[in-house]
Amino acid sequence: MAEFAGWAPRERWDALVRGEGCPVCAEVASGETPREHGLFVADLEMSRLRLAANQFVTGYCVLLCRRHVGEPYDLSTEERAMFFEDMARAGQALGRAFQPLKMNFQILGNAVPHLHAHILPRYYGDPAPHRPIDPDQQRVLLTPGEYTERIELIRAAL
Ligand SMILES: [Zn+2]
Repeated sequence: MAEFAGWAPRERWDALVRGEGCPVCAEVASGETPREHGLFVADLEMSRLRLAANQFVTGYCVLLCRRHVGEPYDLSTEERAMFFEDMARAGQALGRAFQPLKMNFQILGNAVPHLHAHILPRYYGDPAPHRPIDPDQQRVLLTPGEYTERIELIRAAL
């Protein structure tokens, strides 16, 4: 089977779509957030919220669906309503906590096909006016105390 630069081998992708070796399923099941990805913030109705390790975008979080589906339309109507309610609630909490200019919600899944939403507060003067921002454009890591402070701010706003 042909392979294309930057893409996972097709068999690997197909296995991930089936949930085999899915890192998000492992994270949701274990309750452990791999440190390189971020830190656990909260379990919501249909999802788990984590603060991204890279805080180049202040408050950047990822919302992981509890169930392994590729797309929002693969959820039942009830599950979908819960997932989007969680997303709105998390976004609102980030808005309260960090007072950004705008909130971006990105459901992509091009690397890991397990439904998740990147929630990115946007700040006036950030380096991507009129466009989606690349949260990995730079790497900004915090001290353990700074992560804790940020997580507590978000939890208080949820
Ligand atoms: Zn999964």
